[in-house]
Amino acid sequence: MQILAIVVSLAVTLVAVALFGKTIGHMVSVIKLGQPAGRTDEPGKRTVTLAKETLGHTRMLQWSHIGVMHWFVAFGFIGLFLTLVTAFGQLFDPHWALPIIGHWFVFEWVSEALTWTGLVSIVGLILIRLRHLPKGAEGRYSRFYGSTSWQAYYVEYTILGVLVCILLLRGLEYELSGASKFHFPMTYFIGSGLFGGLSEQGLENAIYLVAMIKILISFAWMITISLNATMGVAWHRFTAWPNIWFKRKPDGGTALGALQPIMVNGAPIDFENIDELDEDAALGVGKVEDFTWKGLLDFTTCTECGRCQSQCPAWNTDKPLSPKLVMMNLREHAYAKAPYLLASSDEERKSLPELVLAEQDKPLVGPADVAVIDEEALWACTSCGACVQQCPVDIEHVDAIMDMRRYQVLIESSFPSELNGLFKGLENKGNPWNMNPSGRMDWAKDLPFEVKQVGADVESLDEVDYLFWVGCAGAFEDRAKKTTQAVAELLNIAGVSFAVLGDGETCTGDPARRSGNEFVFQQLAMQNAEVFKETKVRKVVSTCAHCFNTLKNEYSQLGVELDVIHHTQLLNRLVRDGKLTPVAPADSSLNGQKITYHDPCYLGRHNQVYDAPRELLDIIPGAEYAEMPRNRTKSFCCGAGGARMWMEEKLGTRINLNRTTEAVETGADKIATGCPFCRVMLSDGLTAKQADGSAREAVEVQDVAQLLLASVKRSES
Ligand code: SF4
Ligand code: SF4
Repeated sequence: MQILAIVVSLAVTLVAVALFGKTIGHMVSVIKLGQPAGRTDEPGKRTVTLAKETLGHTRMLQWSHIGVMHWFVAFGFIGLFLTLVTAFGQLFDPHWALPIIGHWFVFEWVSEALTWTGLVSIVGLILIRLRHLPKGAEGRYSRFYGSTSWQAYYVEYTILGVLVCILLLRGLEYELSGASKFHFPMTYFIGSGLFGGLSEQGLENAIYLVAMIKILISFAWMITISLNATMGVAWHRFTAWPNIWFKRKPDGGTALGALQPIMVNGAPIDFENIDELDEDAALGVGKVEDFTWKGLLDFTTCTECGRCQSQCPAWNTDKPLSPKLVMMNLREHAYAKAPYLLASSDEERKSLPELVLAEQDKPLVGPADVAVIDEEALWACTSCGACVQQCPVDIEHVDAIMDMRRYQVLIESSFPSELNGLFKGLENKGNPWNMNPSGRMDWAKDLPFEVKQVGADVESLDEVDYLFWVGCAGAFEDRAKKTTQAVAELLNIAGVSFAVLGDGETCTGDPARRSGNEFVFQQLAMQNAEVFKETKVRKVVSTCAHCFNTLKNEYSQLGVELDVIHHTQLLNRLVRDGKLTPVAPADSSLNGQKITYHDPCYLGRHNQVYDAPRELLDIIPGAEYAEMPRNRTKSFCCGAGGARMWMEEKLGTRINLNRTTEAVETGADKIATGCPFCRVMLSDGLTAKQADGSAREAVEVQDVAQLLLASVKRSES
């Protein structure tokens, strides 16, 4: 038995280690096919982030019970590695233990505890997977829909098998050694219960057998994953570490907020000097090798857990976009095409199998039946960031999607036809609605006080506290204009001095950038940047979550550093400072009203502003606050972001209706929000629901500022 166990175990181990090394080498060459990405700045911070995310499982714990179970399984994998070393030793001597620590009770207790907690956890995870198996008509909404099930089960049952072997070996060691229970506190009963009647020879043979099985299970797994480089559910044990270390934000933040500029050869592109670029320089991503190496590492690392898919507003309203499937498709394509890209000569390329050549010919984006990424899926993204927020291994989906859109717009001129109107409005009139810029001050006409305009009433913004950035919606969209007026009134009441740019303001460029038109984004942003420099802007308050995000996070890419605050943050500060005091008179229209709040994605997930608007709503006297089930980091998009506001929603059900239904179901009388885009989408959703009788006529969508103004004004009267 012993000889057989040694020969079989060592043979399988040698094959496994050789294959494993070869596959790692191949994976590194595939990832190196990507474009430069930097990502080595601030190594200290990166290391601290990696330690925090690993030891604290901070990203996994967004789903708390699963995060806890995963922690025990992950740390079992690391902590129980030495039991594998012991198993090898036991093949040669069944009494063998690790030198120094092998019989140290702390090591024994920790090993046994990790084994039991790992066992309970992996059983829990298997049961969760079984319970959420995609089945029937609702199968699409399982987060495992589209994941490669056999791979996940194989990994889980491997872990289960290894843990059972460790327990059996501990039981056998107890019986064979005759040591006290003190050294086998959680396994002695296995030894006496299962192996109590065996002779010494029988116990030794059993140890050879179980040690061999443990080694075979472990190295069969290694062989299997070596033969499947795209088996992310297994490989993430190794690739998650570098993927987290190289994430976009060294300090631990997610890849949300700013979009990165188009990079060519590792440097941001400047459209003013576009003639200096190489002819074949890609503007965006048109082939899988145009992604950066970090993108390719992202695809490699996807565990297929489906957390991103489960939160995606597009997927949940029956569109073809699943961020998980995007990652999986890109990974399969990258690895299938890699032999072609890695071939060193034309001759070698020609001799490649048909399948590789076919993969090389596949368009990256196009109709679903021919391309790697379905174009309908690409354009369905609202850039809400739920996928990035949820991903436990820090994959940067939005960057990948936006880079593919950029190529489609800038190189292929292939985009939804409705965007023509958007681009025309932005290029000709500096706003998406194609309105005359001279109308940018119309909102201020009926206010009972004067709104200062830079150039006309003040020389520069040095003379006031804030530039009030009105935004295109705030200036031209009727519902959003009410928010602009409310904020201006509140600032006036609180004695905060501010000025606006009037027709000197141009769209920040957010819709252009999110629809892939980086050229127009840069034009608009440069135009604003010039005005900012001339007018000496420092502090900016914005009522639009998209403008807020772009000014705060993206203008620094053009050398403009601004101190930007969202109106809900500023108003909250003014209330705390006693400059605005909501009081409830007996006749307040908000008395007894229920208010719910919708988190704008570009305020919440992209910028982590969750508390300020809620605190404002909480202090409105006489009103009751009701939270929606999907809130804060798990909030559901309104459907307007990613320039979707200007595209028709032809597929599936409507995102805004989905969200409005949730808001209405709280029983709220007022649906509050802090973004004009959300306001439009939710108002449209509410109108549709009121028309079909599924929402009360009295329900209204309002900005947080309007609700605050209602209580502040009444208190003054
Ligand atoms: S950003 Fe939002 S809409 Fe786009 S893929 Fe991610 S979750 Fe889906
Ligand atoms: S991208 Fe991230 S969240 Fe989505 S399936 Fe892959 S690992 Fe899970």
